[in-house]
Amino acid sequence: MEGIEVLINGNDCNNNNTYSLFEQDGKHFKTKQIQTIDPSNIRELNILLDLLMLEDGCKQMSDEEILHLVRQRHIATYRLEAILGDKQRAVSIRRQIIEQSMKSMISLKNIPYTNYDYGRVYGACCENVVGYVPIPLGIVGPLRMNDQEYYVPMATTEGCLVASTNRGCRAISLAGGLHSWVYQDGMTRGPVLHFVSAEYAVQAYQWLQDDYNFQLIKTEFESTSRFANLKSVHSRIAGRYLYIRFCSITGDAMGMNMISKGTEKALAEMAKHVSGLERYCLSGNFCTDKKPSAVNWIEGRGKSVVCEITIPAHIVETTFKTTTKNMVELNRSKNMIGSSVSGSIGGNNAQAANIVAAIYIATGQDPAQTVCSSYCMTIMESFGDDLYVSCTMPSIEVGTIGGGTDLEPQEACLQMLGVKGSSKTNLPGSNSAELAKIVCATVLAGELSLMAALASGHLVSSHMKHNRSKTNLTSCINC
Ligand code: NAP
Repeated sequence: MEGIEVLINGNDCNNNNTYSLFEQDGKHFKTKQIQTIDPSNIRELNILLDLLMLEDGCKQMSDEEILHLVRQRHIATYRLEAILGDKQRAVSIRRQIIEQSMKSMISLKNIPYTNYDYGRVYGACCENVVGYVPIPLGIVGPLRMNDQEYYVPMATTEGCLVASTNRGCRAISLAGGLHSWVYQDGMTRGPVLHFVSAEYAVQAYQWLQDDYNFQLIKTEFESTSRFANLKSVHSRIAGRYLYIRFCSITGDAMGMNMISKGTEKALAEMAKHVSGLERYCLSGNFCTDKKPSAVNWIEGRGKSVVCEITIPAHIVETTFKTTTKNMVELNRSKNMIGSSVSGSIGGNNAQAANIVAAIYIATGQDPAQTVCSSYCMTIMESFGDDLYVSCTMPSIEVGTIGGGTDLEPQEACLQMLGVKGSSKTNLPGSNSAELAKIVCATVLAGELSLMAALASGHLVSSHMKHNRSKTNLTSCINC
């Protein structure tokens, strides 16, 4: 490096890698993409520590100097955003730390990080951020539901899924549209309380049965949010453990943070009135969040939705290339008997999770809640030669405010459906209810199309056409 002078550090517009520019004999050269630190570029530690104390001190330091402070453990990597005050620079520096500490084993060059509003991420959606992973976004529609038309965004990497769901939407529209209803609403949180003995657990159980006591904890619960409305508490005893399932309306929020806050306050109040309570934990899995559970399937969680439609025989034949009789028989053998044979909970359907996951990712829902949100009973019956179909989904956990719904692209997807945030004209909760109805309706479209593909024997040929990459099929070494 003799005779070479460092001029500038920056980012390469094409691949987002960091670089340094050098001059030699009047010519400019870029360094390697992953730059090694030249200690001579870095000012003395005490100067850097003094700068760190200043409000805009980090602006006066080069990336190398910041990296030096991270290595010397004066800056924790998770605090980069807070310390630098520049979220994109924090992400860029974290990428350099990862790349340099893993030497050449990790390259983040194909993971984009520029042109992203990290202000919406920080403190809300993700920590230790190094970029974002773009996912293809498809669209299906028009989907005719409750006399309105929707174009539904679906983020997925499963070829065929969007095309197939779109075919279902087309049949639904040709048949005049479907109807979808939310018949129950309430997010749940189920803490576990540990008593000295079963006797005390029983006393606490009985304390909760009293209306006056319920009002007491309801008041505390609802003091934590403008939108929380505690509907019920259901309890179960297991030895000296008491499990309480708090169920609350949460407006347009999916509601897990909201209901957790309320439950904590309600439990603190309850603890003042019951005896023998040793300890409690906010979640005792009686909620049940993000785990398969019979309680959500039977009692419902979030929005419980049902939708239905009758597809005339000629549409079944022209759009789906099969008959009502074949569809009904397949639904019986696959979604009813087959799911029973496999001991499934909430799995009386063909592919509800496919549609739920794709809409959840597109609209900023919590993707792990696909677990229970995709519980679905698909029923098909013959009405003469016509096909009657309904989907019942008791546990759709969705929100149009909070969590990932505040990220810009996800917000745009909600706007596309006309359900971003709180409704300006209707009561709180109407937008999230509308989204739940759309999810259920789109699931029905997917059910129709996949069941038809199976009934007509077209599944494999369409997946070979739409779901197998032609660009990246490297042959096996033994082939
Ligand atoms: P949140 O963003 O934590 O809370 C919603 C906020 O929006 C509240 O401050 C609420 O006001 C406000 N708000 C304004 N208008 C509203 C309206 N029309 N309806 C409802 N709220 C409105 O959202 P959340 O749904 O409760 O929590 C979602 C997050 O929880 C997601 O990020 C998810 O990943 C995460 N999560 C948490 C847990 C957990 O155990 N805590 C579990 C699973 C997922 P108020 O302040 O008056 O309530």
